[in-house]
Amino acid sequence: MNEIDGLNFKKLLEQAHIGIVIHRWDTSIVYANPAALNLLQLSYEEILEKRSTDSSWCFIDETGQKLLVEDYPVNKVKKSKERLSNEILGVINRFQDEVSWFLVNAYYEGEPSETNSFIVITFNDISDSKKLFSFEDIVESAQDIVIVTEAESIEAPLGPKIIYVNRAFENLTGYKKEDVIGETPRILQGTLTDKDSTLRIRTALDNNQAINETLLNYDICGRPYWIEMNIIPLKNKYGKVTHFAAIERDISERKFHLEQLEKRNKDLRELKRDLVKIVEDRTHELQKAKAKLEKLAYIDPLTNVPNRRYFTNQIDTLIKSCNRRGLMLAFGIFDIDNFKKINDTYGHSLGDSVLIALGDYLNSFFRADDIFSRYGGEEFAFAIVVEQPIDLENLTQRLIRGVQSLLIKADTVNFSITVSLGCKLCDTSQQVNFEKEMKHADKALYQAKASGKNKAIIVYPN
Ligand code: GH3
Ligand code: MG
Ligand code: MG
Repeated sequence: MNEIDGLNFKKLLEQAHIGIVIHRWDTSIVYANPAALNLLQLSYEEILEKRSTDSSWCFIDETGQKLLVEDYPVNKVKKSKERLSNEILGVINRFQDEVSWFLVNAYYEGEPSETNSFIVITFNDISDSKKLFSFEDIVESAQDIVIVTEAESIEAPLGPKIIYVNRAFENLTGYKKEDVIGETPRILQGTLTDKDSTLRIRTALDNNQAINETLLNYDICGRPYWIEMNIIPLKNKYGKVTHFAAIERDISERKFHLEQLEKRNKDLRELKRDLVKIVEDRTHELQKAKAKLEKLAYIDPLTNVPNRRYFTNQIDTLIKSCNRRGLMLAFGIFDIDNFKKINDTYGHSLGDSVLIALGDYLNSFFRADDIFSRYGGEEFAFAIVVEQPIDLENLTQRLIRGVQSLLIKADTVNFSITVSLGCKLCDTSQQVNFEKEMKHADKALYQAKASGKNKAIIVYPN
């Protein structure tokens, strides 16, 4: 006698986690254990005597197709009189419209006859592992690269170990699955891979944290490519991180375009800098040219002293300035004595040299605030600010004496010249008419000439 003959097999059926349904040969149900009732969500009363032809059964195959009654496990066994092994079957849940998936086994017991034989169906729920579509297929066919590594032993140089790569990985890197499984993703890194990035990844892995990074990797031929990666820690049902999944996309092209763009921006910045420099240089040159032109326009080319145009241009400003400050203003004209004779005696070019020498002297004699000019021929004019009349007297005397003591060297000849000067002092609190004042000065000059030359005559305001 067998040791377990005394075992209560009915109780065993009641306790089992596997669903067990026993049919008579006519397919009516004679028994269902509690696990079966639970899995099928039926009460004992509901299931008892139910036949396979009962319209409330609704089984589907793995493709989602509704099973014909003749394909129900019980009918298959009945018809083939053979056992049924590991058939996957879906049962549509009548309350929630969900599918429960079962792994079904079936066999018959006794002689196939209507009275004393049974068909036993056993089944267990595999819904958790059975889905209508395969996520693995999605991952396998994705355009993004997927790499799964173990979370254990992430130490360099061998860890972490790759346990899965998808097709996109093979396409991008040129490595076959079998080449890299058991290897570490570090084989994809190379000389130009940024060490700071790999260190950040390493730190995230150490802390079981997710991380996003952009990294330079190398394919099987050593061609570099840029990837943008998200690494996600994968936990088992106890919450322990067992694996890491890296989802990566090739951004080499984007990176290339960005680099091109940056380079272009850099070129543009340099171009702009060059242009600014050119514009600055040109502006500087133009300013210099303008200053030169202005100088040409206002400077007498022979004597290098301001010309008459400059004198008349400046005069209004000076009159107004004196008027504001309550100062007197003197207009003067002086003329070289007997210059014609110098020209006639020594030649016109020596006459020019005399004018040049006089010009040099005048440039040093007058102050920055004074206005003076070659007024025409050998005639010069000035307008100066005067605080006291005595100052004007002193200035005209200094000028007369200064010119007289000027030793002019021209060719082999040394000689000196004299000038006569007429001057008109004005009170600027009254209306000042430049032309009129100059006429007074000219008249005074004429008097100076007429009364012996080499002297200054000043006309004072009334
Ligand atoms: P004064 O003024 O003392 O009455 O006698 P002056 O001999 O100076 O008289 P005038 O004004 O008649 O002569 C001026 C001369 O100056 C005539 C002219 O040829 C000469 N002259 C005018 N401009 C220039 C110049 O640019 N170069 C030279 N060499 N001579 C000039
Ligand atoms: Mg003259
Ligand atoms: Mg003269």
